[in-house]
Amino acid sequence: MTATPRPTVVVVGGGLAGLAAAIEAADHGWAVTLLESRARLGGATTSFTRAFEDGELTVDNGQHVFLRCCTAYREFLRRLGVEDQTTLQSRLDVPVMDPKTGVHARLRRDRLPAPLHLSRALLTYRLLSPWQRVRAVAAALALNFVRRSAPSSDTLTFGSWLSAHGQSDAAIERLFDVFTVATVNAPAAQVSLSLAAMVFQDGLLRHAGACDIGVSRIPLLQLHGDAASKVLIEQSGEIRLQARVRAITQLTDDRWRVDIDDASFEADAVVLAVPHDAAAELLPVGAIADPELLRGLDVSPIVNVHVVFDRAVLHEPFVGAVGSPVQFVFDRTGASGLSDGQYVAVSVSAADAWIDEPVANIRDVFMAELARVLPGVRDATVRDFFVTRERAATFRAVPGSAARRLPTTTRSPGLFLAGAWTDTGWPATMEGAVRSGLAAGRALESWRRTQVAFRSIRASRAENNRDPAQEASA
Ligand SMILES: Cc1cc2nc3c(=O)[nH]c(=O)nc-3n(C[C@H](O)[C@H](O)[C@H](O)COP(=O)(O)OP(=O)(O)OC[C@H]3O[C@@H](n4cnc5c(N)ncnc54)[C@H](O)[C@@H]3O)c2cc1C
Repeated sequence: MTATPRPTVVVVGGGLAGLAAAIEAADHGWAVTLLESRARLGGATTSFTRAFEDGELTVDNGQHVFLRCCTAYREFLRRLGVEDQTTLQSRLDVPVMDPKTGVHARLRRDRLPAPLHLSRALLTYRLLSPWQRVRAVAAALALNFVRRSAPSSDTLTFGSWLSAHGQSDAAIERLFDVFTVATVNAPAAQVSLSLAAMVFQDGLLRHAGACDIGVSRIPLLQLHGDAASKVLIEQSGEIRLQARVRAITQLTDDRWRVDIDDASFEADAVVLAVPHDAAAELLPVGAIADPELLRGLDVSPIVNVHVVFDRAVLHEPFVGAVGSPVQFVFDRTGASGLSDGQYVAVSVSAADAWIDEPVANIRDVFMAELARVLPGVRDATVRDFFVTRERAATFRAVPGSAARRLPTTTRSPGLFLAGAWTDTGWPATMEGAVRSGLAAGRALESWRRTQVAFRSIRASRAENNRDPAQEASA
């Protein structure tokens, strides 16, 4: 008896979406070839080493956090066997301060069920006046009822909705933007109401534990890229790094060719898991209705400012600041391999103002601000200072962006899309990327099953239609 050959798929792009798609496909029995243009897996979640004094520092390209409600991402970490390499708060606890006034506050959830779990945190939030706090609670309750999937929700900004619900500019900046900028990578004034409502409803308001914050204790490259590579190789997958895909061609209804500079790969199907601008260039003509719509999806930058001090200056895992370019500062010492002193990373989302700024200017501004946020900085010595910039960190989630995000399936049979920019309902996050990859892996498998069913129907029809006279003469 001959064994049925395994179906084959080429996954293009080794970010979280591609990795999730590749492993999902392999788990369904597909023979996977993963092509990644860079020298490492992990895409937007990666790490590098930097010479530091007599040794080296391991640096993530940008601080990444997840929430307890990121169920697909957390399940993916379990599949990779690395969930125990992350830390997840048992209860949301976000220290926030105003460097101008020195006032500190904490957004800490109570053990009460949703939506009461945050009411005490909001009513005691010292960065707003008592009246602003009451109005903020009322707006949060109303936000729970926004119909985020209604097309009209993607025509408004979250900021205009908040203003219409009694929120002052100060309340928006000092409370709502603390979450909006960090999760959607744009301030409320720019963000589509539908995506902001999704984040607040699923991430904060509807389930008490949803908002607890998690971080990796090891470099992102190890957490995602290295761990996924091990799983894929165990599944007999093939991984090609520094393999930039130049063209994707449909050969027949269920046969594809993917070209890199010095090789071609044929497969039954393709998952294209690259950023949206790269996808727009690689998608074969006719695969999607309107490539221009996709090209119109804009991007939003994130900058990280990294500082190594000779001593501890941050005495919590992280702290947020309002009214300051320092949005959040994280203690990165543990994951970096630093043995003494402290390494902190300032995560600056929606970083249009900083993305092209020279390092010297960034240093002047951020060191002065850090000294206000973390008073210990004034006495500390800086041992290293550097900046990482991700110009296209996420798509820009402005009104109208929902219509530009594409579904998993394309018009071309056997060609599927994945990526945090696809139509997952989530902002461009690790959760969104993993969800999109899983969706592509499942769509691939269900397409294969349909193909198999069609083939078997065609075979039995052919069998039934066979001419008995011819059979007798044969
Ligand atoms: C600095 C920063 C901080 C962030 N912080 C957070 C956070 O705190 N929490 C959170 O949830 N999310 C965060 N995000 C967003 C999150 O990292 C991304 O949404 C997610 O990782 C995107 O995954 P992806 O697989 O869709 O895309 P990508 O990671 O961009 O992967 C696409 C891959 O395709 C490859 N590729 C492109 N073109 C080709 C080609 N022609 N051939 C072969 N390969 C190709 C690329 O090299 C890349 O590896 C952050 C992003 C950045 C940049």
